[in-house]
Amino acid sequence: MHEFSVASGIVESVLVESKKHGAEKVTKIVLEIGQLSMISVDQLVFALEILIEGTAAQGAKVECRILPLKIECQKKHVSEIMPEKKDVYSLTRRLKCPVCGEVAKPLGGRECMIKEITAE
Ligand SMILES: [Zn+2]
Repeated sequence: MHEFSVASGIVESVLVESKKHGAEKVTKIVLEIGQLSMISVDQLVFALEILIEGTAAQGAKVECRILPLKIECQKKHVSEIMPEKKDVYSLTRRLKCPVCGEVAKPLGGRECMIKEITAE
């Protein structure tokens, strides 16, 4: 499961960061996930909850924010769209610029980053 390896990387970073700041307990983890990251948020949260068991982050609230998808068309219009998750796979093949209707391509969208760590 892809989400488990992503989650273990996240947990590792969270623990390293909180330790660096002398925190004893992590209470909240906020993640930002791109539309094209191919990550199932439910499975990622599930994996994280298992992996933080027994660590300083045990019981931390995990929040995932889905980032809007940035697209650029041939005329260089850059727009941000928020497609339904289920449509993303087919959408990337026929993205249209909302300004002029030309074919557009995604800029990034594969992010999976730690946005915030709350610790005490
Ligand atoms: Zn355009």
